[in-house]
Amino acid sequence: MSIKIQKNILLLKYTTFKIGGSAKYFCVAENVDEIKEALEFAEKNKLKVFVLGGGSNLLISDRGFDGIVIRITNYELRIAGNKIICGTGVPLAKLVSKSVKNNLTGLEWTVGIPGTVGGAIVNNAGANGSSMSDVVEEVEVLHKGSTALSGLWNQHKLKSKQCKFSYRNSIFKEEKSYIILNAILKLEKGSEKEGKKIISEYLKLRKEKQPLEYPSAGSVFKNPKVDEKYLKDIIKKYPELKNIAKNNIIPAGWLIEQVEGLKGKKIGGAMISEKHCNFIVNIGNAKAEDVIILISLIKQKIRNKFDIQLVEEIEYLGF
Ligand SMILES: Cc1cc2nc3c(=O)[nH]c(=O)nc-3n(C[C@H](O)[C@H](O)[C@H](O)COP(=O)(O)OP(=O)(O)OC[C@H]3O[C@@H](n4cnc5c(N)ncnc54)[C@H](O)[C@@H]3O)c2cc1C
Repeated sequence: MSIKIQKNILLLKYTTFKIGGSAKYFCVAENVDEIKEALEFAEKNKLKVFVLGGGSNLLISDRGFDGIVIRITNYELRIAGNKIICGTGVPLAKLVSKSVKNNLTGLEWTVGIPGTVGGAIVNNAGANGSSMSDVVEEVEVLHKGSTALSGLWNQHKLKSKQCKFSYRNSIFKEEKSYIILNAILKLEKGSEKEGKKIISEYLKLRKEKQPLEYPSAGSVFKNPKVDEKYLKDIIKKYPELKNIAKNNIIPAGWLIEQVEGLKGKKIGGAMISEKHCNFIVNIGNAKAEDVIILISLIKQKIRNKFDIQLVEEIEYLGF
């Protein structure tokens, strides 16, 4: 076996939240063969499998995870014309800087998102009106399905449409039976100068609006979509929402900010950010339990005040 499988590895250092207990087993897989080796180990030992990217959209339980965590670090990246062929372990920061340097446009919005290509595809990550679904042409996956022809994991390719992308969602987030290996991203011809300009504007906006000085997992909740009548009624009460709600979508952060006592609310080491209320930040040794209490408090208060059920954008592991 060429991969090193470690036991009882603390997961908090692999997450941007800096929260979470230990994985029973942990390994780093740099390529498809190593991923397959890890899967064989899991199969032999009847272990649950969790694939980790940059750990930036995750809340991991204080008890940790009683299976094997495979951290994917396949960093290959190749440019062919206006396409980028890349491993899913490639950090978005590297992806966007390579694309801009090669005079390609379409990924500038990813700047400042601290994840990997794999995690971004799973979450259909997005910002500033764009998302991964705009650029993904094809992904190669291992799929654990009942129709697998050889072995348990079947390797094949999915076209963008088959990924069933929607707002912060995809087939990979819905059905946890895929491991994404690599992707082909289709971009447009652009200019390095213009790309750099857009990137620095987006970065400036992030610094202004997001509490980047604290560990977090980004936006905790998806922004809810409401119907026309609901929107009309709520705008009567909160006229400023007319300029904030776009396409019937109300920012979750705005909703949270309207409830007295939520902004800046602390439980243990976790706090609802004062700078951006859809962020829960770790202000010092926060436990997953602290975050969970804040999440349920927010959901309950928003339901009571607005009759809206918030849905998490972040994912849970080990609960
Ligand atoms: C400060 C901050 C700002 C953020 N801003 C944004 C933003 O603007 N827009 C946005 O959409 N998100 C944002 N996020 C959230 C997060 O960074 C993105 O969702 C990111 O794409 C997650 O990628 P990751 O590699 O960290 O995934 P992880 O958190 O490691 O994993 C997320 C999910 O993807 C799965 N996964 C990861 N890799 C693979 C793979 N190869 N195969 C199968 N499954 C895989 C995991 O199992 C898990 O289910 C932000 C987060 C932070 C901390």
